[in-house]
Amino acid sequence: PTAKIRLHICNLIFAVGEILMLILPIDYTVHGRVVYSFGPSTLIAYLLCGIYIISTIVTTLIYRKQMPGRRFTAMLLWQGLWMLAAVIQFIKPELLLVGFASSFGMVILYIQLENPSEYVDGSTGLFTTNALSVYVHDKYRFGKSFSMFTAKIHFLTDYVDYNMEHDAVIRTAKALVALGPEPAFRIDDDTFCVLYDDKERMFEKAANIKKQKDNVRDIPAKGTYLLIPDSLKMNGPDEFFRFLHTYLESEQEIVVANDVLIDKLRYQTGIKELIDEALRTDRVEVFYQPFYNVKDSCFNVAEALVRIRRENGEIVPPAEFIPVAEETGQIIMLGIRVFEKVCEFLSKGEAKRLGLDQIEINVSAAQFDHDNPAAFVMENINKYHIDPGQINLEITETAAARNIDIMLMNMNRLIEKGVSFSLDDFGTGRSNIDYFVNMPVKTIKFDHTFIRGFFDNDKIRHVMTGMVDIMHKIGMSVVAEGIETFDQMNVIKDMGVEFIQGYYYSKPVPEDEFIAFLKNNNSPGL
Ligand code: C2E
Ligand code: CA
Ligand code: CA
Repeated sequence: PTAKIRLHICNLIFAVGEILMLILPIDYTVHGRVVYSFGPSTLIAYLLCGIYIISTIVTTLIYRKQMPGRRFTAMLLWQGLWMLAAVIQFIKPELLLVGFASSFGMVILYIQLENPSEYVDGSTGLFTTNALSVYVHDKYRFGKSFSMFTAKIHFLTDYVDYNMEHDAVIRTAKALVALGPEPAFRIDDDTFCVLYDDKERMFEKAANIKKQKDNVRDIPAKGTYLLIPDSLKMNGPDEFFRFLHTYLESEQEIVVANDVLIDKLRYQTGIKELIDEALRTDRVEVFYQPFYNVKDSCFNVAEALVRIRRENGEIVPPAEFIPVAEETGQIIMLGIRVFEKVCEFLSKGEAKRLGLDQIEINVSAAQFDHDNPAAFVMENINKYHIDPGQINLEITETAAARNIDIMLMNMNRLIEKGVSFSLDDFGTGRSNIDYFVNMPVKTIKFDHTFIRGFFDNDKIRHVMTGMVDIMHKIGMSVVAEGIETFDQMNVIKDMGVEFIQGYYYSKPVPEDEFIAFLKNNNSPGL
């Protein structure tokens, strides 16, 4: 409010000043081509200029922390120079310095603020991302549609030297400029775009560029193209740039921004916000699903499965948000939260008293890229005073495929402390023999899709029976997932698996229901 009042006062001063300048008398003398004005009106003009310059200098000094250094020096230099010139001219009126100083100041301002290198890329002469940002914001502000294509260079080998890269970049830039007068931008080391007013022209030019690229044989690179025919399909610059950011990463050769992709982006953005919100307001929950231990006829192991509760109490299943979380990196925070919740639950000791030995926690591939997952797991185990033997981590082949060395290092560190591992989703193509032979896992989980196949397909039945046999021979135990009926349970039990997990026994349930389940089903003598 004070800033607003200050603004109004300034406006008032200037309005009054301008009016006074208009109505007060002004005198002037003419000597040939020289005009010299004086009198009350001119005095007011001097006064206004003085106020203006001094208040600008004061404001600049007050707000120096909020403005980029370049702008700060430019403002001070310009205003200082102006004032100095005015003082000198006041003393020696025949030195007509003021006009000169103010135009000189303008040049300083232009060079300092409109730093051309911010908008033009030095090595290609194309516009930069900053320029694109200004351009796109302007177009949206005036509700004008534009079309755009981007081209990205992907080198097909890791052995790219600087010259080759430079050559590819320069040739691409030249080809883009040769296409026509429309503005071309270099928006990343290897990514370029051109903007058009008309989508037909954009398609035509994009096809032209692709054809030129396809004829280049001496650079081991391929191009991917992202086409946005109508910018107004996105609801503003934020969505536009989010779209770019998301789909520029695509390995697909040609991606066209259509309603399907934009809807997908919006859905993902919604889910991303949902996850952030759930983390912030503690609406991430962990449900537990018990495994039936065939040999001991009890439920001594359970899987922790994450849920998000919407504000209205509705539960969002992980299938809706885990894939998004994996893409956005939120899986790290989510995984940490799940782990803490499980530790907290275990630290109460009640589940253990009711016969629960171990909880299995799902770990996504991305969680192993995180700097040191092993340290984090141990930290929490220590913080909550939990026996590491109570924790089992379920991993998938995808995790191993990403970075097997880091993964093995982390696994071994944890195994040393007593944490164990299972291989999840076996039979989905996400796990193969290689992994369970070479990975330090002691349990294999047959995915429920595989179990479905078991009941529908003779071949799968033989494969699975054989697999279970092999796994037992190499000292591993087996969990069968997704058992829903009494008949299924019986057939699977006869196959000799150690654990059975499925709706037949219990769906994943909240903590209190899970405790109730253990009370009802793990009583001695059952
Ligand atoms: P998953 O690891 O394969 O987990 C088993 C899924 O099968 C669970 O789905 C479970 O509810 C479901 N299921 C169990 N028994 C039956 C049954 O008898 N019939 C049927 N039709 N389904 C059954 P949910 O809870 O929806 O979890 C889906 C996936 O989300 C999990 O698949 C897992 O990959 C992922 N996930 C869940 N929680 C976490 C977590 O905390 N972290 C990570 N990274 N992923 C998680
Ligand atoms: Ca699992
Ligand atoms: Ca599974």
